[in-house]
Amino acid sequence: MIPFLDLKNINQQYRNELIDACSRVIDSGWYIGGKELESFENNFAEYCGTQFAIGVANGLDALILTLRAWKELGELKDGDEVIVPSNTYIASILAITANNLTPVLVEPNINTYNIDPTRIQKAITAKTRVILPVHLYGQIAPMPEIMEIAKKYNLLVLEDSAQSHGAELNGKKAGNWGDASGFSFYPGKNLGALGDAGAITTNDAELANMLKALRNYGSHEKYKNLVPGVNSRLDEIQAAMLDIKLKFLNEEIQHRRQIANLYLTGIKHSNIELPLTNINAETYEQHVWHLFVIRTKNRDDLQQYFTENGIQTLIHYPIPPHKQQAYKEWNDLNYPISEQIHREVLSLPMGPTLSIADAERIITLCNQFQV
Ligand SMILES: *Cc1c(COP(=O)(O)O)cnc(C)c1O
Repeated sequence: MIPFLDLKNINQQYRNELIDACSRVIDSGWYIGGKELESFENNFAEYCGTQFAIGVANGLDALILTLRAWKELGELKDGDEVIVPSNTYIASILAITANNLTPVLVEPNINTYNIDPTRIQKAITAKTRVILPVHLYGQIAPMPEIMEIAKKYNLLVLEDSAQSHGAELNGKKAGNWGDASGFSFYPGKNLGALGDAGAITTNDAELANMLKALRNYGSHEKYKNLVPGVNSRLDEIQAAMLDIKLKFLNEEIQHRRQIANLYLTGIKHSNIELPLTNINAETYEQHVWHLFVIRTKNRDDLQQYFTENGIQTLIHYPIPPHKQQAYKEWNDLNYPISEQIHREVLSLPMGPTLSIADAERIITLCNQFQV
């Protein structure tokens, strides 16, 4: 069987280093908020090109706490509108509703799967305060256009970079475009911990400071609480694991690109649409391929065919946020592009340890698929 993502193999590559780092933390006697976190925060900020990285417990908290920090700093208030793609993973939207803010769903471009800037412009109202673009599947959203709109209407920009560590556009990385960015280090992400972890990157010192308090009960100084915070910390063991894996991230991205190029040049089927990356060759090379997502009207048959041939594929995602029971009030709304995407997408195996031979087998099978 060719698995969708072989996490065990991925982490096995660094087994000795990971074990050494674990031992170091165990022997240090210091497990929360120490040297390992500081080191990872510095290295990750440097990697993204930002001044600050603030470790938190997971990617959802990274987004929730950033919006919360803006509320504490007086930038946002209950009921303000946040523009977000209608085809994102639900976490992007949960972060908005968790803060009593109002999500305004905007449809993506069907070929890149990323939010469509011309539709953002149309969705802006007097209550709009934030744009929350998601760099979906590993490709950076059209940030130059988005930043221009944000500037014109004086809006904050929070990037959801959970799927795009290292993705780049015009020489600037995901996490360094907006006012702040949320990252997830869930094990299956391109930079994955051995458990839950997340971070926020920003160049805003005041925001960074507020986030450091919010993640730790609202406290910078023990037993002094500035704001009603939460407990959302990135522990020393996970920080140490991430610091090791960060060193190999670029190599892993290169491997993903090699697999993606094989798929892009090898798959030739009149009923299968390949992912189109943002227009030109330069951006095309900067996709980090968290997921390789194809589209076909025969999605369910194709998935079954792959299963019968020993290939695991997944659907990202089967149900759009506005059709979820969690958001019953939106169930009757129409987002035709998102609905088509959710009906037609299929994610092929992709990862830093997927072999060329396996990718070639997947391509051959794909091309032999009979509608
Ligand atoms: C994974 C993911 C998140 C949430 O990250 P967790 O660490 O699982 O909380 C948020 N947004 C997107 C787009 C994601 O893919």
